[in-house]
Amino acid sequence: MSVVPRSPGPVQASDAIVIGAGFGGMYAVHRLRQAGFSVTGLEAGGDVGGTWYWNRYPGARCDVISLDYSYAFSADLEQAWTWTETFATGSEILAYANFVADQLDLRRSYRFEAQVCAIAYDDAHRIWSLETACGQRYTARYLVMATGPLSLPKPVDIPGASQFKGELYRSSKWPHGPVVLAGKRVGLVGTGSTGIQITPVVAAEAAELHVFQRTPSFTLPMRNTALSPDFVAQLKAHMPGLRAAARTTFAGGVRPVSTRPLFSVSVEERTALMEDAWRHGALAFLGLFSDLLVNQAANDVVADFVRDKISQVVRDPATAEALKPRGYPIFTRRPCLDTQYYEAFNRPNVSLVDCLADPITAITETGIQTRERHIDLDVIILATGYDALTGPMLAIDIRGREGLRLSDKWAEGPKSYLALLMAGFPNLFVIGGPNGPSILANYIRLDELNVDWMMDCIAHMQAQGLETIEATPAAEDGWVQTVRDLAERTLYVQADTWYTGTNIPGKPRGFNVYAGGLNRYAEICATEAASGYAGCSFEPARTPVAG
Ligand code: NAP
Repeated sequence: MSVVPRSPGPVQASDAIVIGAGFGGMYAVHRLRQAGFSVTGLEAGGDVGGTWYWNRYPGARCDVISLDYSYAFSADLEQAWTWTETFATGSEILAYANFVADQLDLRRSYRFEAQVCAIAYDDAHRIWSLETACGQRYTARYLVMATGPLSLPKPVDIPGASQFKGELYRSSKWPHGPVVLAGKRVGLVGTGSTGIQITPVVAAEAAELHVFQRTPSFTLPMRNTALSPDFVAQLKAHMPGLRAAARTTFAGGVRPVSTRPLFSVSVEERTALMEDAWRHGALAFLGLFSDLLVNQAANDVVADFVRDKISQVVRDPATAEALKPRGYPIFTRRPCLDTQYYEAFNRPNVSLVDCLADPITAITETGIQTRERHIDLDVIILATGYDALTGPMLAIDIRGREGLRLSDKWAEGPKSYLALLMAGFPNLFVIGGPNGPSILANYIRLDELNVDWMMDCIAHMQAQGLETIEATPAAEDGWVQTVRDLAERTLYVQADTWYTGTNIPGKPRGFNVYAGGLNRYAEICATEAASGYAGCSFEPARTPVAG
C-alpha cells in the first residue's frame, strides 16, 4: 500500500503524531517530547481542551469530581491549580486545560484546525502518512489516536433542520461567542446528560423552554458545593495518598464503593440508606450497593426509589409520570447528575413534550412539528448525542498494512488488544479507546495509564532494537472475547444506549467496554509489559545498507 496523500505539497515528518488535543493527546505530546521525540499534534479544534473546547453549552459541567478530573502525573500542576467547586464547570475545566498547555508549552507542538481525514501505513518505509482536510501532509513512525470517545456528534436525523429560520445550535458545537436566550422561545431536543444540564439553566433565562424528551434518563441530584480554601489546602496536602487510593478502585476515582448487596439489608435500612444518599447527592448514591448492575431485582428497587422521588418533586402528575424512565435498568444508560432538573418542570415557562407519545416528525421554518402539534420556536438546541467510542476513529479513512481498512476490520465491532494496539496497524497506539475501561472509568486516569504504557513500550522497543509493534491476531481475539464475556455478565448489554451503539442506525450492537474496572485493567496492562509484550509481535530495526 502506498502513502495516502493525494495533495501535492511538502510532507512534514516527525517521530510521532498525536491526533487530538484533549487530555489524552496533551499528555501524549508531553511524554513523547520529554523522551526526546519530535512530535506533531493535530487537532480539529482551534485550541486545546478536546470535549471542553467544543461543549460550551449553558450548564456544561463535569459530573466527575474536580479532584479526580485532573492530571495526576505532576505534583507541580496539582499544587499550582485550584479548583473552586466539587464539580467543575466546563469553562473552569477548559481554563485548566489551557493552564496545563501554558505550563508545559504544549501549543508549539500542535497544528490546530487540522482535521485529519486520511491515514495510511506505508509498509515499505514503516511509517504512517496522514492528510488533513486542508491537504496538509504529515508522516511519522508512531501514531497516537487520542480522538476521544465522544467527539463525533450523531448526524442530525430530524428532517427539515436546514429550513429553520431561527437560531439552531448543537450542544456539541456550541458557539464561542455569547448566545442570548432571554425573552426567546427555546426548544431543546435530547434529555441525556447534556440536555439535563442545559434544562435548568435555559429555563431560568428563556421566555419559554420546551423540552423534547424521547427516552427519559435517570438523574440524581449533584448537590454541588463550592470548595473552601481550607478544604482545598487539605486536599493538596494529601494528593499523593488520594491519587494512590483512586488508582486501586474500579473507576479510578475517589468515590464510595460498596461490598453490600442490596438484599443483604432490611427494607427499612435500605430505604434509609437511599434517602440519606439522595440528601447527600451524587457519589453517595452510586456507592450504596454492590450488585445494582448485575442483579435485576436489586436494580428495580433503586429504580423505583428514584421514580418515587420524581413524583415527590414534580408537581404536575402527568409530567412526573412522563419523566419517569422505564424499560431499562437504572445506571445502564449513563447516570446523570443534575442541579434542579426535575424542579425546572415546576416553572410556568417550562413544558415537557413526551416524544414517546407524540414523536417529532420535522423541524419546520418556524419550530418543531410533532405528530400532533406544532410548537413555534425562536431557538432550537439539539443535544442529541454522539456516534461514540468507535465513531471518531472510523470517521477517518484509516488503512493499515496492505491497505487493510479500519472500517473493514471493525465492521462487526471494534477489534483491538488491551484497547491499545491492533493487528495490522503497526505502531498505532489508541488512547482511551474501545475495548478498554473507557466510559466506566475516570478518563484522565485512563489517558495517563495508556500513555505511560505506550511510553514504556516504546522505550522497550528502542532498547531491544525493535522498529514496529502490533497485536497478534490471537491476542486481539482473546481480548475482544474477554471484553464480551464480562459485558454479558452485566445489565449494560440490555439497554439501548450510545453505550451499546444503538443510537446510530446500522452500527453493530455491542458493549465494547472492558467491564472489569480500571484497577484490574491496569494490572493486566502491567502484566503484558512485564511479559515482554507476549500478546504482540515486533519487527526488528532494519540494518542500514552500507555504501
Ligand atoms: P445522549 O446521552 O446520547 O443523549 C442524547 C439524547 O438525545 C437522548 O435523550 C436521545 O433520545 C435524544 N435524541 C437523539 N436523537 C433524537 C431525535 N431524533 N428525536 C428526539 N430525541 C433524540 O447524549 P448526551 O446527552 O450528549 O450525552 C452523551 C454523553 O456525554 C454522556 O452520557 C456522558 O458520558 C457525556 N457527558 C458528560 C457530561 C458530564 O457531566 N461529565 C455532561 C454531558 C455529557 P433516545 O435516548 O431516545 O435516543
